[in-house]
Amino acid sequence: MINLKQNKSNTPNLFAGELTVLYIINFITCLFFIGFAIRNFYLGNYWFAASLIAYVTCSAITSYQLKSGYSIKFLISTCIVLLLFSLSLMMVIWGITAVYWFFPVVIGLIFILTTTASFIVNSLITLGIGWLAFDTLPFIEAFRLISSLFLTIILGYLIATHMAKLHRTIEKESISDPLTGVLNRRQLESHLTSCSEDFGEKEILSCILMIDIDHFKSINDTYGHNVGDQVIIGIAQLIQSHSRPQDKLFRVGGEEFVLLLPQTAQHDAVKVASKLREFIKSANLVNDKTITASIGIAETSDELDNAQRWLKSADDFMYQAKTAGRDRICYPQ
Ligand code: GH3
Ligand code: MG
Ligand code: MG
Repeated sequence: MINLKQNKSNTPNLFAGELTVLYIINFITCLFFIGFAIRNFYLGNYWFAASLIAYVTCSAITSYQLKSGYSIKFLISTCIVLLLFSLSLMMVIWGITAVYWFFPVVIGLIFILTTTASFIVNSLITLGIGWLAFDTLPFIEAFRLISSLFLTIILGYLIATHMAKLHRTIEKESISDPLTGVLNRRQLESHLTSCSEDFGEKEILSCILMIDIDHFKSINDTYGHNVGDQVIIGIAQLIQSHSRPQDKLFRVGGEEFVLLLPQTAQHDAVKVASKLREFIKSANLVNDKTITASIGIAETSDELDNAQRWLKSADDFMYQAKTAGRDRICYPQ
């Protein structure tokens, strides 16, 4: 479900990347509430007016904090408590007709809170309104009111679940290579930069293996493109099945892969590369044809102080392996 917990940033997920929308909704709500507050102040409903102004103040601070990137979970909870308090006072003053305001609120809560929190708050709202409705309205009207509120909540959850599912699918597709399912080239830079920074700040060594299948064009030419695709998929699976959970595999070209080995020094990376080279060679991915790969290794160092330079070094060693006859591993001696 869409909630604050799943979002790494402080922004409620519904509004991730759409902060302007959140500000506009908040601004319009605050304008309404300031108007209500002034009117109710003159009508003598001081507590109600004060609670509305408290909500407006709190939501203005929340918006400002959100903009500044501070943690806002506490502020969001305070806003919600103030909003519910204001709405409850409104029901006390204006009676059951004020119930209409709860319809947008129950939907908003589904999108802003965690599933459990919104379920608890929405259940309490439904129970409270149900109690008041059956107490003050004819049975059939109370029943109509509660049924429509209940259906609104159910629809809200269905829409939120659907959106969360779409969000997950799009997120997964945007980071994966469609053929093999491993990470795509776009993800490479951020992962390499993170390891580079670990080296710069804490001297943690990491290695890149640049793996290129040898004479792959001839596989395509001999067996066809579909078989070629199956070989690429098979090799990706093979590398992944022999990697540790923290290792990251990227497909960076047609038949080229980068295996990032975080917190791994060169001597261990050489052992990993040797094993992979053997596994690829003995994998029998097409009709008993031996498939080989050339692998270049580069370790984090003061000279290779950014992702591009580090990657280029691994690429250079991979080309060194090619020119030296392929089916081998090259790395700084
Ligand atoms: P080398 O040993 O020098 O690496 O030779 P190579 O044939 O592997 O390398 P080259 O760069 O000459 O050819 C790569 C081939 O990979 C050419 C291209 O048609 C093929 N290829 C690229 N992407 C795909 C893909 O997604 N599927 C298939 N089946 N083939 C692909
Ligand atoms: Mg190749
Ligand atoms: Mg290549």
